[in-house]
Amino acid sequence: MKVSVIGTGYVGLVTATCFAFLGHDVACLDINEKRIDLLNSGKVPIYEPNLEELLAICKQNGKYPVFSTNASEVISHGEFIFIAVGTPPLPNGEPNLSYLESAALSIGQYMQDDAIVINKSTVPVGSGNWVAMLVQNGLKQRVSAQSGNTIPKIKFSVASNPEFLREGSAISDSLYPDRIVLGCDSKQDTLRLKNLYNELTEQVFKAPDFCPRPKNYSKVELITTDITSAEMIKYSANSFLALKISFANQIANICDYVGADVNEVMRGIGADTRIGAKFLNAGIGWGGSCFGKDVDALISIANDYGYDPEILKAARDVNYKQRDLVIKRLQEKLKILKGKKIGLLGLAFKPNTDDMRDAPALDIASALIKAGAQVSACDPIAIEHCRHENPDLNLEYFEDPYLMASGLDALVLVTEWKEYTNLDMQKILNLMSGNLFVDGRNQYSPNQLTQLGFNYVGMGRHAR
Ligand code: NAD
Repeated sequence: MKVSVIGTGYVGLVTATCFAFLGHDVACLDINEKRIDLLNSGKVPIYEPNLEELLAICKQNGKYPVFSTNASEVISHGEFIFIAVGTPPLPNGEPNLSYLESAALSIGQYMQDDAIVINKSTVPVGSGNWVAMLVQNGLKQRVSAQSGNTIPKIKFSVASNPEFLREGSAISDSLYPDRIVLGCDSKQDTLRLKNLYNELTEQVFKAPDFCPRPKNYSKVELITTDITSAEMIKYSANSFLALKISFANQIANICDYVGADVNEVMRGIGADTRIGAKFLNAGIGWGGSCFGKDVDALISIANDYGYDPEILKAARDVNYKQRDLVIKRLQEKLKILKGKKIGLLGLAFKPNTDDMRDAPALDIASALIKAGAQVSACDPIAIEHCRHENPDLNLEYFEDPYLMASGLDALVLVTEWKEYTNLDMQKILNLMSGNLFVDGRNQYSPNQLTQLGFNYVGMGRHAR
């Protein structure tokens, strides 16, 4: 089938590659020329495990997607047109819908008859109707640009297909999703989208060696619903995950007072199948392009109706206070931060990505620099992104954590890259001037590090 994808970021590029891998003819549009040039030269502009390998398979199969900045070429190609442009937050917490607006207008200008426009971007509830209006406006522009002024009989419909992939495991999440949500306003659209997803839902493709099918995984649950409910599912899912992490962090802070170990507490509650063990890791809290933005957007949607969503606001507040807590702990232990050498292990908002959007490392580094500390940081992948996106951040960057450790007064684990959760901590301690280790992701044993000679500070954990 012919699929067009608008936007080649984390979601658009992964979606396009997976559809191409499954045998569809895919064309992708982006306004970022550099990105399209890179993709056309066979390079991948983002760091995402297995993406390069999957694109290579597409190439071998003669299904390498078309990558172009030409809206007419890409949009007119697709019977299915996916919108996967960014919806970043505005300062007031509402999502910036200008990219979506311009994508929808272009679709109206160039789409073929009977196309389905599918929203994969995370968009406020009601965006389905709004996108339909914009596509219609685009269609009118096409008409007025043509001679004769007669409106061509071009039918289209809009659907919602929210995306749940996680950066860092996006290919596996897309090939073996927990569920696929299809929000459509007609049975016919639901049927067409079901057909498009058939190889995936039935799992009738050969799994790539580098991304094997999980054990006991056979079919994908397909959730078909109306557009508004599909839009709400996406915001509710992210808000619930964000809430789970904030809950764990709030319990961690109480553990700090009473002397309990939050990792033990979460192990104890996570074993209850009604609760589940995932997303209960206490620490510095969530970051990234989605949780903060989506929680804020849902708060803003509720406010539009005069409703005060207290739980969502608390989830957000608890999260951002965890970042301040790192500074507080460093102050408690070091007393004076001015002139102190502090190293951050990890910059990306989570492991296995180079994404620096809303990364806790940025807030922590800025606060420490403001307090007069000399701050250094290392990351296996995200240094270039961080440097490029934050040219004014006065950080000293290191590729090697051991080189960074030399002469440090304190070391903070910010991102739990596997490279940083298995360090030779004796070697690190020998290199440091001080002995303070803030385990922002609760990855190390408080007892073992204390025995080595560290002053260990966890997030709701203590040496016994
Ligand atoms: P991104 O910023 O990585 O990519 C967006 C891309 O769209 C960019 O390459 C940009 O140049 C391009 N673009 C913007 N306007 C365009 C236009 N008019 N025409 C063509 N291209 C255009 O964003 P992302 O992380 O891929 O997220 C996309 C959407 O998916 C967002 O709504 C996000 O909330 C949602 N989402 C993201 C994730 C994630 O983990 N990143 C997961 C689920 C859902």
